[in-house]
Amino acid sequence: MSELVLTGGTVWTGDGFAEGDVEIAGGKIARVAATGSGRAAQRIDVSGLHVLPGAIDAHIHLGHGRDISRPRVPEDALTETGAAATGGVTCIIPYILSSEPYRPVFDELRLVTEAGARVDFSFHFVIATDTQMAEVAWLAEQGSPTAKLFMNIRGDEGARLGLPGTDDGFLFRLLETLREAGGMLCPHPENIEVAWVLRDRVTAADADGTGGLAAWNDTRPPFVEAEALSRASYFARIVGTPLHAVHTSSGEALAAAVLQREQGSDVSIETCIQYLTDDTESPIGATGKVNPPLRAPADRAALWEGIRRGQIDTIATDHIHRPASSKQGGIWTAQPGFPGLDTFLPALLTQARKEDVAVERMIPLVTRNPARRMGLAGKGELEPGFDADITVLDMGKAWTVEADKLASDAGYSIYQDRQMDVSVVHTLSRGRFALRDGSLSDDSRGHGSYVARKLR
Ligand SMILES: [Zn+2]
Repeated sequence: MSELVLTGGTVWTGDGFAEGDVEIAGGKIARVAATGSGRAAQRIDVSGLHVLPGAIDAHIHLGHGRDISRPRVPEDALTETGAAATGGVTCIIPYILSSEPYRPVFDELRLVTEAGARVDFSFHFVIATDTQMAEVAWLAEQGSPTAKLFMNIRGDEGARLGLPGTDDGFLFRLLETLREAGGMLCPHPENIEVAWVLRDRVTAADADGTGGLAAWNDTRPPFVEAEALSRASYFARIVGTPLHAVHTSSGEALAAAVLQREQGSDVSIETCIQYLTDDTESPIGATGKVNPPLRAPADRAALWEGIRRGQIDTIATDHIHRPASSKQGGIWTAQPGFPGLDTFLPALLTQARKEDVAVERMIPLVTRNPARRMGLAGKGELEPGFDADITVLDMGKAWTVEADKLASDAGYSIYQDRQMDVSVVHTLSRGRFALRDGSLSDDSRGHGSYVARKLR
């Protein structure tokens, strides 16, 4: 007999929903059966609720206080995976960032994260030095075959993050290295040399930053993103390496990636929740500063059109749990990035409803698609044998975002005081409640495990 059955819910079938019972045994989906026929030691009534695979957020930053580079203590993973469970997310892939070699710290990173994590996780590594490039094959063997390159970090641009500058030669060699390792490049695409020119003009004209989010967008506008994404995708095709276009924020960048894909590049396209819900006209001030910037309303519309057309493959958060203090001082001095895990599925599905996009179109973008692209075997679907990573949603229960109820240690949200029309009721990680009836489970601390990934 199974351990647990979620009975009477509206269950995701892979392309739609059907009434049924989900049986869980040994942390896996045992079977999806007719309503009322599920047998298990424990029955949880989920009638009236939607049962989906847990969301997979393949783009977050897991840091420590103001330091976004890596988790340092188990509490870093505890709070941020609490935010994940709160937002319906059952697997996260943080970008680990350093100028030092990764091999000596890999086990420590894994252990410190596992000691706190409520849900499963994997790692991507930012590659910024030749020493790190020489570790790419080893990292792939450990199950982290995806590497980020900050194309915008040239000269001393990376001093804030402690990263040295690289160039297109480095990009080309990294693509070759990843191809040999069975890996994939996840570039941060911005032409910083052009952005520097624009930044100097914009800041000279608006030293006080009264232009807010629109001024920030003007310093690194969509064509700066589109050019770099075109270049990386083109090199990726020449070299023969897959590429994942992270945080695609603009119509220009989306069109550039689609064009490269049509010409033969193996490119998957990710956008992030904030580019779908917010734009330069959002009244959130410097809290909404992020790289790439929030774009004009027309860009936001273009991304939704990309979802309707099936051009966008995955949606992530680019969650960064910086404290609110790092967002002070106006648009030129605030640090970029903000948290997004706590509100992920509610914000996404609330906005999809406003955009008149069916929930059935949205679910694969945050479950099956990132699982397949990122090599997360056994996740992203409610099929027998898959991990029982499940989120249970109330599609009709509205709530208002309040900062003091968020689980992330950042303690704020760009959605503060906004209404969400969808609620996360339960989140299960391999059959165990991480979130139950909207509250984090005490015994979920440390249940999350590192997941080794293998691409293609
Ligand atoms: Zn990021």
